[in-house]
Amino acid sequence: MSRPLQARVNLAAIRHNYRFARSLTEGRTVAVIKANAYGHGLAVVGETLAGADALGVATIEEALVLRSAGVRDRLLVLEGVFDRDALRVAIVQRLDIVIHSGYQLEMLAQEPDAAGLSLWLKIDTGMGRLGFSWREARAVYEKLRSLAPHSEITLMTHMACADEPQQEFNRTQLERFDAALDGESLPHSIANSAALLALPAARRDWSRVGIMLWGVNPRLDGVAHPQLRSSMEFESRLIAERRVEAGESVGYGCDYHFPGEGRFGIVACGYGDGYPRHAPTGTPVLVGGRRTRLVGRVSMDMLAVDLTALPDARVGTPVTLWGSALPVAEVATHAGTIAYELLTGLTGRVPRIYE
Ligand code: PLP
Repeated sequence: MSRPLQARVNLAAIRHNYRFARSLTEGRTVAVIKANAYGHGLAVVGETLAGADALGVATIEEALVLRSAGVRDRLLVLEGVFDRDALRVAIVQRLDIVIHSGYQLEMLAQEPDAAGLSLWLKIDTGMGRLGFSWREARAVYEKLRSLAPHSEITLMTHMACADEPQQEFNRTQLERFDAALDGESLPHSIANSAALLALPAARRDWSRVGIMLWGVNPRLDGVAHPQLRSSMEFESRLIAERRVEAGESVGYGCDYHFPGEGRFGIVACGYGDGYPRHAPTGTPVLVGGRRTRLVGRVSMDMLAVDLTALPDARVGTPVTLWGSALPVAEVATHAGTIAYELLTGLTGRVPRIYE
């Protein structure tokens, strides 16, 4: 029998979530599927979203995976290109690239064939990551326009606090963005998932959504969004069970001691599969569809769950680590992280089953 751990990916849910994102705005929507489609499998998800307005990846390498899989849709490379070889690949493969730094302008100047690319000029309005300062946006835009007079240029920025919609800094970023190239009629792109859902002023010509494609509500309060569908069931089974006396411990470090007589089960899933090692005792897990809790430290290949209140749970009983009945964001909160990290951290050892 093969190891029972798998990630079942619901492709219809991903399509539904993309359509829902699209329905929120009159503009177009980039489906951001970088980092192996947040762990779901880049090529399959790319094929699933065929016909999307555009697909977004971080790197040229990811774009090439999609092109090799036969994906012909518009592809946006969010980190842009780092050297002229990559720029030539972008030209041949007709990739949209983000221009965020002066060295990329120099590369464009040396590569006349780049003049026809669709370019996304990234302005840093406060995220403090990639992009030209909003203060220098006009000068940079004029330079870029002179290098690529016929290119479509989309003006973009990225929000730092959109998952906290009440944060004043969201307004500051929007004001800086709108002031940066006031008077130019360029297409705009601001919103990620959180901004699309909660900041109407950020809904412009293009949104760029990642996390909501997987059914995750990006808000920090972790409440499930009623219109989004979970895209992944991360599931396994019990592979062992044990009775314990009061005071007996479970796992490395003897961190957890049963307060009374009890029973625990061992699940085939550990941090070598991408389950967070720092998930503490008490992190929710579903066993046979019923909520129980992780006990003791997570090992590389296994974790332990409390079966004291689940007398029917046996070796072979199905276990859900996260999925539609146990939001990945909830597990992430217990582990002191975010759903993005759990999804992208799923390792190659976990078979993805597409449904
Ligand atoms: N736009 C950019 C530039 C990003 O880096 C990302 C993801 O990190 C996204 C959009 C999508 O963000 P989210 O997954 O929060 O929707």
